[in-house]
Amino acid sequence: MNDSMRRAAAILLVILGGVALWWAGSGAPASASANDVMAATIAAARERAAANDARLKSASRFEEGGWIYVHLEGDPGAMGYQHGYLLAREIEDAFAAVSAGMMHSTERDWAFFRKAAHEMLWPKIDAEYQQELQGIVEGLRARTGSKLDVDDIVAFNAFEELPDYYVPWLNKQQKTAKAPSLKSPGNCSAFVATGSWTKDGLIVMAHNNWTSYRNGERWRIVFDIAPKNGHRFLMDGFPGVIASDDDFGINSDGLMVTETTITQFEGWDPNGKAEFVRARKALQYAGSIDEYTNIMLEGNNGGYANDWLLGDRKTGEIAQLELGLKAHKLWRTKDGVLAGSNWARDPKVLKEDAPQFDPANKESSPNARRARWDELLKENRGKIDVALAEKMLGDHRDTAQHQEEANERTLCGHVDGSPRGVKEWDWQPYYPGGAVQGKATDATMAKEMRMMARMGHPCGGDFLAKPFLAAHPEYAWEEPYLRDMKAGPWTEFRSGQAPKE
Ligand SMILES: [Zn+2]
Repeated sequence: MNDSMRRAAAILLVILGGVALWWAGSGAPASASANDVMAATIAAARERAAANDARLKSASRFEEGGWIYVHLEGDPGAMGYQHGYLLAREIEDAFAAVSAGMMHSTERDWAFFRKAAHEMLWPKIDAEYQQELQGIVEGLRARTGSKLDVDDIVAFNAFEELPDYYVPWLNKQQKTAKAPSLKSPGNCSAFVATGSWTKDGLIVMAHNNWTSYRNGERWRIVFDIAPKNGHRFLMDGFPGVIASDDDFGINSDGLMVTETTITQFEGWDPNGKAEFVRARKALQYAGSIDEYTNIMLEGNNGGYANDWLLGDRKTGEIAQLELGLKAHKLWRTKDGVLAGSNWARDPKVLKEDAPQFDPANKESSPNARRARWDELLKENRGKIDVALAEKMLGDHRDTAQHQEEANERTLCGHVDGSPRGVKEWDWQPYYPGGAVQGKATDATMAKEMRMMARMGHPCGGDFLAKPFLAAHPEYAWEEPYLRDMKAGPWTEFRSGQAPKE
């Protein structure tokens, strides 16, 4: 008997047991509860059988500091299965919150996103990632009996690119009447520094993730991935998504990667390869800044267009890849600092890919944070290390008002406290979004595959859903999904880590 036959036989036996129980109880008045017993018995049998699956042998999960750490290892199908199984409940929960947001903002139904995933994205996904995505579905179903299929999971993996890049492009193509206003997001504050800028002369990299609190409170996974092919890598991430997606990661070949998005980016190539696939592939396979750039450019679809901030700890070199669709530019240096807060700077990228963006408006969130990065990094030239980077991620200096006030213009974003919102991203006044977690590392830590991470606002402040919703009924539609986002401590994670005793 092979493994799967044994598993099937075990399930059958327990189902028969459940049926017998139900049969015995069906004459009694409590037949509904007998049905519940049968359902529970079948679910337990399914979980037991799935837990014994040989594919789970090298995988593990534990929780620390508000994060869920998962170790995935093996061939693509097995890693997918481990991912789907170990994070099944988090995936179902995140899928509900994310898909609700995608439908709400675009005024499109879920079938629309499934179709886009199936017809447009799937055919261009590399075979190994198709297998991994299929594996996620199998692991998820084995654990919870989920009804989600691979089209759901692919559309969900593209949650940063379908609603805010593809849909506005499509609305324009089809001249959709009364199309909702959709703008590409402005996610994150980040920098990478090297040479005379850092305390030890080696690379320091830091990033905080800006998004809705609805999604951000769920962005709490640390993935330690040992793939059969490519390099080992450690990244933060989202349950059910194969890329980091807010993009903070290091790999065993020396590459350090993060990004911030390009505000008011416009454009999409339906024949291109999904960004979540390119970003995942680049972190897994690139061993140099050039290799990283080539993988991101190959099949560029314009989705989730970013300023990529890169470091190569083998050479001490850092780089910024401003990746538009029509234009792109790469800057690199062995002595400097490159910061990001959602602004493009190459004149050609600005003109061709983000024509609405105003680099001169000092009041906007991207430009005010750009000014703050400039002064903060200059003040600390030669002193920058991971501890200082952690502080910078929680900074509340508003350069437009010349005062301390946590709002949409501070490196640690609190847009829920701003009567202005961020019009460039269509975030209305008091939008429940901002910095949702932070990460930092340096070349020494990256060599040992270590990084620091803090869940929640990097300043340590808490977001509480109930009083927020009471004060802002305009966001009532988020009520089923919006949860408290309490800050955890800065916590160190490393590849191959075992849970604390
Ligand atoms: Zn803060």
